[in-house]
Amino acid sequence: MKTFKLAMLIVIAIGMTRCSSDVDNDVQQDSTITQQDISSEILSKLQSMGFDMDKTSVTSTKGGYIVDGDIFFTEETLKEDNYQKQAFFGIVNCNRAGNIRIQNALGNNAAGRGFQRGINLWNRVNNTTLRLVEVTSNPDILVRLARPGEIGGWGLGEFPTNGVEGGLIILNLNEPSIDGDPVTAREWGNILTHEIGHNIGFLHAEQGFFGTQVPGTPNNDTSSIMTSGSNPSVVFNANNVSVNDRRAVRRMYSNRSNRLCR
Ligand SMILES: [Zn+2]
Repeated sequence: MKTFKLAMLIVIAIGMTRCSSDVDNDVQQDSTITQQDISSEILSKLQSMGFDMDKTSVTSTKGGYIVDGDIFFTEETLKEDNYQKQAFFGIVNCNRAGNIRIQNALGNNAAGRGFQRGINLWNRVNNTTLRLVEVTSNPDILVRLARPGEIGGWGLGEFPTNGVEGGLIILNLNEPSIDGDPVTAREWGNILTHEIGHNIGFLHAEQGFFGTQVPGTPNNDTSSIMTSGSNPSVVFNANNVSVNDRRAVRRMYSNRSNRLCR
């Protein structure tokens, strides 16, 4: 399945690092993929959360399931109908977020033509101090094309570290659209907005359990621009970032005292 795969793998890798200290490491050393006696309902739920079920082991345990060796989900979490929410893994310092220099190094192609839309969808959100400023040199975020074989899926965004936005976004022109046609400039713009979301801290909406939910946002936003490749039509067909994406970014980056950035 086509996914925004690498960003997702980074999320999973980080998630595993974070929680591996409090589980039995023997579980991780079992390299065979076990999904025995797990209902198809649970397996498809995990797939919708972005897990690659060809490579993900699931074992039943008291009160829930252990996924990928060391990620515990309660039965209740996996039975929720909707688990899509605005959550962040890292956050950019307030001052930096007000002037993030971003460079279009995509060249003259559909992705390059979608660049402006990609930054506009965030810049148009009102009542937030987040601002992306296009530059031609010394960027904070470089947006470039993938090298042959560098990534699968359409794109990759990098999470912030220590208050500094992720510095790289890669888009993969070789990946066809969900309808098999070449990805259009508008669709590339939406994909870029999604990737920028990672660079300013957002996790995939389905994978918010790895991070911190943005206060004031719900658990069931099925139109978030941060929806993962498990349902790529949301990103491809978006007219804008969702209402709750806007709520989230206002809460993360603003001049108000309840802002989440530092
Ligand atoms: Zn993504």
